[in-house]
Amino acid sequence: MTTTTATTARPLTHNLGYPRIGEKRELKKATEAYWAGKLSRAELEQVGSELRRKNWETQRAAGIDLIPSNDFTFYDQVLDTSCLVGNVPPRFGWQGGQVDLDTRFAIARGVRKGGNNNDGGSAAAAKDACTCSKDQGDSADAQAATYASEMTKWFDTNYHYIVPEFRADTRFALSATKIFDEFSEALALGIRTKPVILGPVSYLKLGKVQDSQNPSFDRLSLLDSLLPVYAQILQKLEALGAEWVQLDEPIGALDLDDAERRALSTAYAALTTAAPKLKLLVTTYFGALRENLETYLALPVAALHLDATPRGDLKEIERVLAELPADKALSLGLVDGRNIWKSDLAALLPRAQAAAAKLGTGRLLLAPSCSLQHVPVTLRNEQKLDAEFKGWLAYAEEKLSEVATLASALGGQADEAALTANAAAIKSRRESPRIHRPEVKARTAKVAPSDFDRASPYATRRLAQRGANGPLATLPDFPTTTIGSFPQTPEIRAARLRHKRGELGTAEYEKFIEAETLACVRFQEEVGIDMLVHGEYERNDMVEYFGEQLDGFAFTEHGWVQSYGSRYVKPPIIFGDVSRPAPMTVRWSAYAQSLTKLPMKGMLTGPVTVLQWSFVRDDQPRRDTTFEIALALRDEVRDLEAAGIAAIQIDEPAIREGLPLRRSDWAAYLDWAVNAFRLSAAGVRDNTQIHTHMCYSEFNDIIDSIAAMDADVITIETSRSNMELLGAFVNFKYPNEIGPGVYDIHSPRVPTVDEMVKLMRKAAQVIPPENLWVNPDCGLKTRGWAEVRPALANMVEAARIIRAES
Ligand code: GLN
Ligand code: ZN
Repeated sequence: MTTTTATTARPLTHNLGYPRIGEKRELKKATEAYWAGKLSRAELEQVGSELRRKNWETQRAAGIDLIPSNDFTFYDQVLDTSCLVGNVPPRFGWQGGQVDLDTRFAIARGVRKGGNNNDGGSAAAAKDACTCSKDQGDSADAQAATYASEMTKWFDTNYHYIVPEFRADTRFALSATKIFDEFSEALALGIRTKPVILGPVSYLKLGKVQDSQNPSFDRLSLLDSLLPVYAQILQKLEALGAEWVQLDEPIGALDLDDAERRALSTAYAALTTAAPKLKLLVTTYFGALRENLETYLALPVAALHLDATPRGDLKEIERVLAELPADKALSLGLVDGRNIWKSDLAALLPRAQAAAAKLGTGRLLLAPSCSLQHVPVTLRNEQKLDAEFKGWLAYAEEKLSEVATLASALGGQADEAALTANAAAIKSRRESPRIHRPEVKARTAKVAPSDFDRASPYATRRLAQRGANGPLATLPDFPTTTIGSFPQTPEIRAARLRHKRGELGTAEYEKFIEAETLACVRFQEEVGIDMLVHGEYERNDMVEYFGEQLDGFAFTEHGWVQSYGSRYVKPPIIFGDVSRPAPMTVRWSAYAQSLTKLPMKGMLTGPVTVLQWSFVRDDQPRRDTTFEIALALRDEVRDLEAAGIAAIQIDEPAIREGLPLRRSDWAAYLDWAVNAFRLSAAGVRDNTQIHTHMCYSEFNDIIDSIAAMDADVITIETSRSNMELLGAFVNFKYPNEIGPGVYDIHSPRVPTVDEMVKLMRKAAQVIPPENLWVNPDCGLKTRGWAEVRPALANMVEAARIIRAES
C-alpha cells in the first residue's frame, strides 16, 4: 500500500526524509571518488539511484504509506532547491538551462584555479582546516578561483546547508528535473512518493542577501517572482501523478516578524490555487509554533505537520487539536527524529489515541518529528554493541517501525509482540544500573552556589598568577601561545589506527606519542612561544577522546550522520550518569611539563561542547547531564593543578551553537551553560590560570554571558574580521585577558609578520595592552608543518615588535 485509501481505519504513516548517506557510507565514498576523478558521472548517478531504491524499499517494508522523494541529494537539499529554482550565484558563470551536477558541486565547494573541480579530494581536505564543527567549508580555500557559497548550521542541528544567495536582480526559473526524475523513478518501482521541497518562505528566510549594490535589499520581496516557479513545480508533479507534496517550512520554530508570517499566508494561498488537486502537507519542526501558530493553522493546505516531541510544546499540540480547521489533517511528529533512543510507545500511544479521538483517524497522520537525516541509518550493522544497550536504541530504520507500530495500534491491529518488546526495553533503560548511578546523582545534588565561583575576583587572581611570586611571573607582555593541537600528520593518524586495531602495543604507541610531544615542545621552545601546549597528539577528536575515558558514554561502529556534503560525524552517545573513573589528560600534560621550564597549558574540552557534539540522553534535562560532565572535568582540572600545571584551557567552541532557536529561551540556556563552565573551572587556586577558547567571533549578543564565564584568558577567532569583531569585548569593557587570533588557521597561507603586527596594533588600541595575548585563531591539527613552522615564527616575531612598541 503506497497510496491513500479512505478505507484505512488506521492513520496514514509518512516520513519527512530518510538519510541518504547509505548504511555503509556509500554516498561519501562515491562522491569523493567522483571528485577525485576515479568514478564516472554515470557511476556516481548509479550509486545515487541504488541508494534511493534501497531507501524507498526500506520505508515501504517498514509500513510507511507516504514515502518521501527528493530527500536524496548528492550534497545538500537547500542547494538542490537553489538549483531547482535556478538561483545560481552569477560568479559561477551559469548560462541558464539545466543546472547540472558539477555546477551544484561548484557552488558547494568552490572552483579551483584552472576551473577543474575534480581535485583529488584536496578541497574536501581544505574543509577540515579547522577543528571546529562549524567550519567555513571549501569557501575557506584560499586557492579557490571562484569561492563557494557559505555554509551554515541547519537550525540547531549539526547539519550544515549551503546558504542561498539573493540579489535585487535575482530571477527564478525552473532549472532542474531532479525532483520530477526521482518521483518517476520511484513510480517505476511501484512507489508513489510524496516529493519533498523546502517551502518558498523558508527558502528565502534561510538565505542571505549578497549584493554589494543593494546590501539592505529585502529578500522576501523576491517571493512574487519565486512563487510562479513553485507553482510550476507543483503542477508538473501533479501531472506526473503525485498525490501529496511535502513543503518544509521549518521557520515556524523561529522568531518571525509580521511580514514573514504574511509571506507564508500569501505563498500557500497562491500554491493551493495553482495546484488545487494536490494535497499539500506543510511541515514545521524543531520547536513549537508559539506566536506563529495562527498563521500555520490558517494555511489553506491539506495537512500540517508539527513536532510533537517535547522539543515542541505538548500544550500547543492540544490547542491545535482543538482549533484545527475541519478541512485540514494533522501530522503528529511523535517519534523523535533527532535522537537515537527508542521511543516509549506506551507513552506515545495514548497521545496518538487522543488525537485520533479528536480528529478521527482519517484526519491524522503519524510520522517522525523531522527528517531522519539527523540520525544514523540502521542498527542492523551494529555488531559490537551489547544486546541490552542496542535494545535501547533506534536509528532511522527502527524509527520507521515505531511510527508503523503506533499507527497499526490505532487502527485496532496492535502488534502486541512489538509493543511488549518495546515496553521491556524502555523498562530496562529506566532501571539499568549502568545508567543510574546514585553516587553521581548525590554529587550533582550537593553542588553549592560557591562551587561556581573562583576563590577571588579576577584582579586578585591575575596578581597571584602573573605577579612577582606567581607561577606565570615570567610571562612577558603580549605572551604568545597556541590553541592546543599541532599538525596531526599521516604518521600520527596511522599509528593511532594501528594501535586501535591492536597492531601496535600500548607501550609502543605511547612511546611514539611521547616522541611527537617532545618534538613539539622543542619546536615551541626554539621558535620562542611563551606558553606551550603538548600538541594533543594522543587525541583523535576533542570530544571522543574524553568520552572514551568517562563513564556514561558509548561509541558505535556505524552511527554516522551527515554534517555537510561528504563530511559525516559519528557522535558519542551519552547514555548514563557521567563520571570520571581516572585522570584523563594528566599523564600527557605532566609529561610535557617535565620536558620544559616554560609553562605548559593543560588542555580540556568543556562540558557544553562535550554535550553539544554528542547524542544526549532524553531522560533528564540537558543541563543535568552537562553538570555531571562539568564535575568530572572539575576533578581533572584539579588533578592537573596538583600535577604542577599552572594554566589550563577548557575549550568551549560550542557554547554559541547551543543557543535555542528562540531569543526568549536564550537566557535560561546561557545561565546553565555558563554555570557548567564555571563549575568545571572554579575548583582551582587563585594562582592557576584558566583559559577558554571559542572559534568564532560573533559575541555581541552574548558578551555578558561570555564575561560571566570568568575565564582568566579567552582566545577567540578574529583574524579574518580584521579585529572588528573584538568590538563586543571593547564595548563591554571586558575585564579579563584576551587573545584575539592573528593567524587564520583555515588557510594554508603563511601570515606575514607585518599583517600580524597590524592586527595586534589594532587590538592594542581598543583593549588594555596588558590584557592581550598573541595566538592563532584555532588549533593547528589540520595544518601542515611546512606552514605552521614559518607562521608561528612570524607570530613570535610580531609579538616581539608589538612588545617593543608599547
Ligand atoms: N584545543 C583544540 C585544538 O586546538 C581546540 C579546537 C576547537 O576549538 N575546535 O584543536
Ligand atoms: Zn577553535
